[in-house]
Amino acid sequence: MIIFPDLLHVEVEGVEVAEEITLILRTTSPTASCPSCGTVSSRIQSRYTRTLCDLPSVGHPLRLIMHVRRFFCKKSTCAQKIFVERLPDLCRPHAQRTKRLQEALRHLGLSMGGKIGADVGSEHGINGSRDTILRLVHQSEPPARSEPRVIGLDDWAWKRKRRYGTLICDLEQGLPIDLLPDRSVETVSAWLQKHPTIDTISRDGSSEYASAIKKGAPQAREVSDRWHLVKNLTGCVSVLIAESFAQLRRTEAAAAAQEEQVELLSQKRHGHPRTKAERHAQQARQAERQARYEQISDLQKQGMKSAEIAAVVGMAERTVRHWLSQRGIPYSGPRKPRSSPLDPYKTYLLSRWHQGCRSGAQLERELRAKGDIGSQKAIYRCLASLELFVSSPSRRSGAQSWETTKSQPNPLLALSASQATWLFFRKEEDLKAEEQENLRLLRQASPDLETAYQLVKEFLHMVRELTGERLEEWLGKVEAEALQAFQPFVTGVQQDKDAVLAGLTLPWSNGPLEGNVNRLKLIKRSMYGQADLNLLKLRVLHHSPKSLERKNKKKQAQQKDPLDISRGRKKDTNFQHTTNEISNVA
Ligand SMILES: [Zn+2]
Repeated sequence: MIIFPDLLHVEVEGVEVAEEITLILRTTSPTASCPSCGTVSSRIQSRYTRTLCDLPSVGHPLRLIMHVRRFFCKKSTCAQKIFVERLPDLCRPHAQRTKRLQEALRHLGLSMGGKIGADVGSEHGINGSRDTILRLVHQSEPPARSEPRVIGLDDWAWKRKRRYGTLICDLEQGLPIDLLPDRSVETVSAWLQKHPTIDTISRDGSSEYASAIKKGAPQAREVSDRWHLVKNLTGCVSVLIAESFAQLRRTEAAAAAQEEQVELLSQKRHGHPRTKAERHAQQARQAERQARYEQISDLQKQGMKSAEIAAVVGMAERTVRHWLSQRGIPYSGPRKPRSSPLDPYKTYLLSRWHQGCRSGAQLERELRAKGDIGSQKAIYRCLASLELFVSSPSRRSGAQSWETTKSQPNPLLALSASQATWLFFRKEEDLKAEEQENLRLLRQASPDLETAYQLVKEFLHMVRELTGERLEEWLGKVEAEALQAFQPFVTGVQQDKDAVLAGLTLPWSNGPLEGNVNRLKLIKRSMYGQADLNLLKLRVLHHSPKSLERKNKKKQAQQKDPLDISRGRKKDTNFQHTTNEISNVA
């Protein structure tokens, strides 16, 4: 049979085609086995009809009406006197859907969740409610995987900054193998004890995982994950850069205060609308403030308090708190010119001025004759600005040359600290011309930044080329340079040196975990925060055969370039996004 290749003993009795296609089927096998005792029987007791939903056919839902039979069990001692013949290849006992429809619904649920799965399914004639789909998903077993040898541990946030779980990946397979409800020493070590085949574990620098491994898998070699090492280093560099930017800003602010005076004068000269150069300067200042806001927001994400942030970026703590609480910078665009009752007469005034009338009292008399023009003070203020505006040609050209030579804000200050930080960490050949220029300016901005750049470059060389034997030398250099900002990183490395050395020499790292943590977050969010751990776990561990195939192909391609750490820092994503990614993962 074309529709049911597995069913030898089924005959089609009729086909009805309407909104849905109905197939009327009859079983023809002469005998059936009793499900309780296995005895084969040929004594038919009665017939009845089962209705089953099947996968759609040419876009129409397919319904099967099956005429099946009840048999007598021949074995006298069997408790089951009468039994219904089973169709194990087609459906489970009592099910209203065929196995392949259930499989399709389960797959939809695992891939998309109950609600979206139900919506997408019904559009394609695969009908099942959200509850049905979720029930099928819950009934499924996590995929069987071989005992792991090399694993990676990473945490993921149930609730950001409050509750964390642990994701475990088989690093050789690049697949997630389990999801634990927390990251406590007890939970993780208990899991490790159940998997004695493990000999290598990649983890972040947290003391919890280190203790859990010592307790649950003392035989395993610990590897400090390179990605986390790099991430911790970016944290130190971004603090250093934030401090340098604050210094730059203080210098710029002093210069800007002077310019502000000149600009006020210039506004008086020209009135509104503002010139292109002024608008440009305004936009640059706005960009600088935005960058500064992103910087303090980055520092906050790293766990800094507003007082500490204020000290680093050189702003008042009150301002820092204000910006953070309103999640952005206050509006600082151009002020609208105040309207004045004099406005309609400005052209008239100007023409009179050009005619040579310089007498304020005379002009006031003329204007008052024309209508309501406000207070005398307003008139004289207007006349004062006219005087400046229509001043001698030499003064005007002076003003113009001032405009063109006016100093632009330092372009570095339009970068956030994290954007600037990434200039240090990305491969130089990946930087665009403009970014390379920014990097050059950054390195020139202070001797500390140049030193930091060299240290980062050397550390990344160890990370990329796995030349961990240079670690000791590198630590010595940092010590000698006495860069305060690098101190937390150095302390962390010293405390975990064996694992860091392993991380900088062995090929293992949490690379495969990172993508899976992101996937987990995506799945968790798609469940609107209502996910229970079991459902989340089933969905995270589920990979369709197709996606596994793709993964393997990708893995083979990556093996040609196994040490590329560019994962998670894709060249085409912007820095802000990737930095956020890193802080979210951690
Ligand atoms: Zn029986």
